[in-house]
Amino acid sequence: SDKPIAVLVPGRIHPRVVERLKERFEVVSVPMGSPTEVAPDLRDRVRGVAISGVLDNGWINSLPNLEIVSNFGVGYDGVDTKKAAEYGIIVTHTPDVLNDEVADTTIALLLNTVRQYPRAENYLREGRWKSEGPFPLTPLSLKGRKVGILGLGRIGMEIAKRLEPFKVEIGYHTRSRRDGVGYTYYSSLKEMAEAVDTLISVVPGSAATHKIFTTEIFEALGPNGVFINVGRGTSVNEDDLIAALKNNTIAAAGLDVFYDEPNVPGGLLDLPNVSLLPHVASASIPTRNAMADLVVDNLIGWFKDKTVITPVPETPVKA
Ligand code: NDP
Repeated sequence: SDKPIAVLVPGRIHPRVVERLKERFEVVSVPMGSPTEVAPDLRDRVRGVAISGVLDNGWINSLPNLEIVSNFGVGYDGVDTKKAAEYGIIVTHTPDVLNDEVADTTIALLLNTVRQYPRAENYLREGRWKSEGPFPLTPLSLKGRKVGILGLGRIGMEIAKRLEPFKVEIGYHTRSRRDGVGYTYYSSLKEMAEAVDTLISVVPGSAATHKIFTTEIFEALGPNGVFINVGRGTSVNEDDLIAALKNNTIAAAGLDVFYDEPNVPGGLLDLPNVSLLPHVASASIPTRNAMADLVVDNLIGWFKDKTVITPVPETPVKA
């Protein structure tokens, strides 16, 4: 047909994605969520999807000529890769280009949590330094901590490297032990939580990581414990976490991700010993631009000569 290839964009995505896609494709923007009626003409023309967030399976079911889903973000838990694979649809994501940014944010969140820098700044801004005197000393310090990283992948490795100059002990848990890595390996999350006083989670959202941070893990981490989450909020039982922070089962938590974003439980907002960020780990203009480019370049490559730069391992890339 002489009609251009159509790329569907459900919901919001980085504007650079849409701008660059428009140079080569027909871009069809639709609301996030499940499709209502898909016009037959459109149904036939859509061969690609660009998505940031959750892709409703209804789209996969109703687009017979869909070949590729290009996901904005390294985490692709919003796309049902099993379903895509059944239909032979390729899924791509945006690994590596955000490693440094996310690792930098993780260190900042760790320090903010331990030393309460955001609270100290608010104290100054509220005029309390002048009226009440120095900001209270923080009970916690990063000095001498033992840090356990859950997930020593692309981002986890960058976090570990950044932790080295802080002179903390570094260990990790992954399902398969990594070769050639000098950090202490723990064979389970529970074992790691018992051995360390600081946990950093940077695992993908999946069935295997769903609500794995429970009271049992927080009890193992202990009263000097600090929990940092930059992976996915779905890994955490937030009721258990709130209780652990309230009862001083652990000392503090720093969170960039939440179970049901953008809904942050009131119970967390009320606590003094948490540092909260609105899922901003990769959110700088340069890094988000690089992610946007990778989303577009995967689609361009696919429709040019069936090559993609960064496919996910679960879907079949045919030669
Ligand atoms: P990688 O795939 O490179 O690393 C994932 C790591 O997690 C691997 O070491 C893997 O090892 C481990 N892992 C996976 N499942 C489990 C499990 N069930 N138990 C223990 N370990 C597990 O991913 P990236 O480092 O590139 O990204 C990690 C995640 O970080 C993303 O999927 C995303 O969810 C999140 N993220 C969050 C951002 C934010 O803005 N807050 C930004 C970017 C990423 P093994 O398979 O051996 O278990």
